[in-house]
Amino acid sequence: MRLDILTLFPDLFPPFLEESILGRAIKKGLVDIKLVNIRDFAEGPHKVTDDRPFGGGEGMVMKAEPICWAVESVGREKNKPFSILLTPQGRKFDQPTAWDLSQKGHLILICGRYEGVDERVRTGCVDMELSIGDYVLSGGELAAMVVVDAVSRLVPGVLGGERSNLEDSFQDGLLEYPHYTRPRVFRGQEVPEILLSGDHEKIRVWRRTESLRRTLQRRPDLLNEARLSEEDRRILEKLKEEAGKIEAGS
Ligand code: SAM
Repeated sequence: MRLDILTLFPDLFPPFLEESILGRAIKKGLVDIKLVNIRDFAEGPHKVTDDRPFGGGEGMVMKAEPICWAVESVGREKNKPFSILLTPQGRKFDQPTAWDLSQKGHLILICGRYEGVDERVRTGCVDMELSIGDYVLSGGELAAMVVVDAVSRLVPGVLGGERSNLEDSFQDGLLEYPHYTRPRVFRGQEVPEILLSGDHEKIRVWRRTESLRRTLQRRPDLLNEARLSEEDRRILEKLKEEAGKIEAGS
């Protein structure tokens, strides 16, 4: 998988790209990340990449030409990469979107700054606009890092154990079950006995139940879209009954 990050601040990225899972994926050649400095595509001796807004007002706007030229320099018509503008006005990034993007093969991520980018970037040289949440960052670089991380871990071979990303939260529309490691007792809190039993079937059912319980308690909205089996539905009914009894008793 290849990702080209278009930014005015490429120096923000190297430590993030060198460490841990992503660093190993890049070393193994599973993920290829190129940093493209938008300034290299600006014209004139001062390489200006931003200008005052037409119509007046505060702040500066990133010019369209350097960004679109940078996008075009990365990929032409054949094997055209999929280009994404990071913007708080975009579709909200989530796990299904990360899966879709991980299938694309080659992505361009455009990081805005200042008041944002000239509207003609959006209309002329991007395939998708993505937001990482309902808040405003100073630049798209952190958003690009979020997308790079979430997408890269879905590329086959990037995570050591092939199964580990299949059980992550949101993979099947649910939050993941709780995890425990040694010691067995920490500040009086014990690891659930069932996890020490060695009984794989009981552990599977416990984990699924806790995953459903968490989702019901914290993100019931997810249950409307989740892929639920017959077993899941039975477990959910029980959990709802339990919750009802607790509410009635309190
Ligand atoms: N004036 C813009 C608006 O109100 O929509 C916000 C511009 S913001 C200060 C500068 C840049 O940060 C944006 O162009 C975008 O690339 C990035 N950015 C800010 N918040 C973001 C978010 N929630 N998701 C993705 N990118 C974001």
